[in-house]
Amino acid sequence: MTYQSVNPNTGKTVKSFEHLNSAALEKSLATAESCFQTWKHTSYAERAAIVAKAAALMHAHVDDYAKLATLEMGKRIDEARGEVKFSADILAYYAKNAEAFLAPTKLHPKVGEAHMESSPFGVLFCVEPWNFPFYQLARVAGPQLMAGNVLVVKHAGCVPQCALAFEKLLLDAGAPAGAYTNLLISHEQANGVVDDPRIKGVALTGSVAAGRSIAARAGQNLKKTSMELGGSDAFIVLEDADLEKTIPWAVWGRMYNGGQACCAAKRFIVLDSIADKFLEKFTSALSGLKVGDPMIEATTHGPLSSEAALLQLLKQVDSAVAHGAKLVVGGKRIDRPGSFMQTTILTDIAPDNPAFRDEFFGPVVSFFRVKDEDEAIALANDSDFGLGGSVFTKNLARGKRVASRVDTGMMFINNIDWSDAELPFGGIKASGYGRELGNMGIQEFVNKKLVRTAHLDAPA
Ligand code: NAP
Repeated sequence: MTYQSVNPNTGKTVKSFEHLNSAALEKSLATAESCFQTWKHTSYAERAAIVAKAAALMHAHVDDYAKLATLEMGKRIDEARGEVKFSADILAYYAKNAEAFLAPTKLHPKVGEAHMESSPFGVLFCVEPWNFPFYQLARVAGPQLMAGNVLVVKHAGCVPQCALAFEKLLLDAGAPAGAYTNLLISHEQANGVVDDPRIKGVALTGSVAAGRSIAARAGQNLKKTSMELGGSDAFIVLEDADLEKTIPWAVWGRMYNGGQACCAAKRFIVLDSIADKFLEKFTSALSGLKVGDPMIEATTHGPLSSEAALLQLLKQVDSAVAHGAKLVVGGKRIDRPGSFMQTTILTDIAPDNPAFRDEFFGPVVSFFRVKDEDEAIALANDSDFGLGGSVFTKNLARGKRVASRVDTGMMFINNIDWSDAELPFGGIKASGYGRELGNMGIQEFVNKKLVRTAHLDAPA
């Protein structure tokens, strides 16, 4: 398959791009390797000037980038603007803080003195998904360029224009050729890149299947990886939750980005005493969304990213119902051009229903009633995933207790405001390993070298 921009609002193909041929791919890898040999010796100030300039350029052209994202993957335009601004903020954050994050740290051995210092690995290969076509790139480019690494990046097949725009952004900001290279390559070529001895680390954000495949390949090559994979986050509502505040978060948590976020609220686990009221209000709030063209500001329910994504979701809902789940509302495609799915609520999902374990990547709510807090936690933890989750309660101490007992990489109390440049992002179990963002994100692909000085005689 080639790289294609297809507008999911209309189903029309806008632009196609061929895969790189092997000579062009080789040239990209050679340029990246040669760039690393000089880039690693640049000062933090030199790197920061380029990365901060890229941030400023993004801020100056928010609308242009946002429209590309909306065109290629159907994100609502105001969400796309938010994503672009946030991506710029991530770049600026690392331009400002990288030197402090990677400063040598003093150790205190019994004899002599010692410190840890950080140095870049080299050329990193990043494989990225379409659902946040700029933010995902900023999450790797900001920290890794500032750490002194260089990147070759395979973006998703449906967002080639976003991929190329981000590469151009860095070149326009003054990055040398090879510091950040977009690769329009096939999965098979991606395997070859993982094997290439010039590649020193691999970061992937995407599905569990992609993670398994690329991590296994990197493992055979003994290359460090970080994996940001899928999720099926629990949204736990305790009986003392303030529903006026909780319902808007439930709608946002499930519907933001068309429901296509790894850390979206996917399993709504509600205490029995409040379940009917919650379900009634939630259903009514979802029914108030306005379906339409994601380029139009007033739209609150846009298309899914592609026809294939829609068909996959419809199939999952049909299978859930065939295995005994009840469909409260929705379940069908919306009768209009483009890849639009009705907001859908499923209840009565038994543990042997495939829907109990699957990730629904779109506007599908899985609703569960539980008798108490312990049952809510047990159900939240009965998942192959472990990305994030949230709990809603007026009792903060109780919220913290529940958050501590849920086995995920991230928990949110009375909000699901997932991501900030300062806060580490990532999961456990089938949601992957490693962290992006924050101080942790810049530490993933640096050599932590011990240097010890001690005037000692060698043991006899
Ligand atoms: P995907 O199909 O796994 O694609 C992600 C990227 O991996 C794309 O660039 C894709 O390229 C590539 N890819 C897939 N299989 C590959 C293989 N065998 N070899 C080499 N490259 C391969 O995932 P998606 O459907 O685009 O994205 C949705 C998934 O990503 C969801 O599961 C979501 O939860 C997860 N996600 C996780 C995070 C996080 O931070 N944890 C963030 C966002 C999304 P092609 O497009 O060319 O196939």
